[in-house]
Amino acid sequence: MVWDIGSILISNPRLGNLRNRLFWSYLAVIAVILGAFSAAIYGLVARDRQHQLNLHLRQVATASAGTLEIIQHEYEELTTDDEYADYLPNNGKDDRPLPITLTQLMGKYEAGAMPAVVANPLTPVNQGVEWFDVQGQLMVREGTLFPQTPLPTTLDVEGEWRQEGIIRSFILPVYSGDLSLQASPTGYVRASESTVHLEAELRRLQGGLALGVVVVAGFATLGGLWLTRQSLKPVLETLTQLKQFTADASHELRNPLTAIRASIAVMQSHPERIHPADAEKLQAIASASDQMGQLVEDLLLLARMDRQTPDQRAWAMIALDELLEDLVTLYGDRAAQQQIDLKLELNANADVNGDASQLQRLFTNLIANGIQYTQAGGTVTVRLHRSPFQAVVTVQDTGIGILPEQVPHLFDRFWRADQARNYHEGGSGLGLAIAQAVTQRHGGTLTVSSEPGRGSTFTVHLPLAKTR
Ligand code: ADP
Repeated sequence: MVWDIGSILISNPRLGNLRNRLFWSYLAVIAVILGAFSAAIYGLVARDRQHQLNLHLRQVATASAGTLEIIQHEYEELTTDDEYADYLPNNGKDDRPLPITLTQLMGKYEAGAMPAVVANPLTPVNQGVEWFDVQGQLMVREGTLFPQTPLPTTLDVEGEWRQEGIIRSFILPVYSGDLSLQASPTGYVRASESTVHLEAELRRLQGGLALGVVVVAGFATLGGLWLTRQSLKPVLETLTQLKQFTADASHELRNPLTAIRASIAVMQSHPERIHPADAEKLQAIASASDQMGQLVEDLLLLARMDRQTPDQRAWAMIALDELLEDLVTLYGDRAAQQQIDLKLELNANADVNGDASQLQRLFTNLIANGIQYTQAGGTVTVRLHRSPFQAVVTVQDTGIGILPEQVPHLFDRFWRADQARNYHEGGSGLGLAIAQAVTQRHGGTLTVSSEPGRGSTFTVHLPLAKTR
């Protein structure tokens, strides 16, 4: 027998919830893995690129440190000797015309006569090199990018990296001779470079990774749906077998039960043949077999609804107002016997398409429960009204109510609340399961709100039939 897994999930909300939980847990795990993976890649690449930039700056600073001595010499000559004042940007009119470029400094040499060590100054775009004297005063600079901050007062002898806005720098103290004998540096060199390109590159990487994550997450979603379906298959198959077993067992029980009930009916039709001491026992057997018969019929009804999709061609137009009126009349006596006021409030006419006997069963179960679980003196009110597309029926009682933690179990087969067992022994725990199955087959919903000790309201929404 082929079972439609989708409909089993729909008719079994807790399995549907399990499927959703499995699916979302799977997606959450994948999202965490993808997030951690992309963060790790981004972190590694960013660190590597920073490291490369740092190394490069140190190389530039170390190379430029070799020219510090000659630059210091040339700078002193230029700024102290009037002969060279013309080479200064302001003709040497300031006390200390700072800073000047390497090209200006070397301007006093004829082309080709420049000392080889500074003949090829480093002037790439977005970089800059600065030479400072022993007091940390800027003397000469070359390039296009320089930090605005002065040199730090204390510096590691190996040099230090600094970040100022988009500028990364390496500051190197320069020592002449043996470092171990030299207490203080003879000057400083600062090499700087813009991190704009690096940041743009990292942003591109971020974009690429984000796109990758979205694409992989898309595939993971499809994979998740497939995996969830696969992992639920055995559960659904077991459930299916269980339901099949229940259906078969109920079916097999039906015939012997019918035979028993028929035999009892025959015996009861001849009371003169029954020993008076056995009459009561026979009555107990008769009512137990009636109860069992009802149970078997309920199970078969549920099994049929589980297996077959509704045949809507066999449905009829049902006037809910009339159906409810009949039921309230039918249950009026029973309610009166239990001193319960059973009321009907018809606020509208409403027609629905459906199976008359199933809809009757749905509202019978709700009204019977209302009467069952309400104390003498209480009220059960059946109301009908309509929204634009739906008929809305509420069955409200002033009975024992349902604890909030019991609500999720309410529509489970054979579930009964402890307080209900104490209150009323006869129930089977199938009534609400049937009510829910009937509602769902008719495209509607059945919901409950309840306050323990104050009463419950069951609400059925059913789609209205197209015409009245
Ligand atoms: P039954 O009434 O035969 O026990 P149902 O499936 O109709 O089975 O109801 C399941 C359980 O839900 C009941 O045993 C009871 O605990 C609770 N219940 C149903 N209707 C009401 C109600 N109107 N008020 C309080 N509890 C209810």
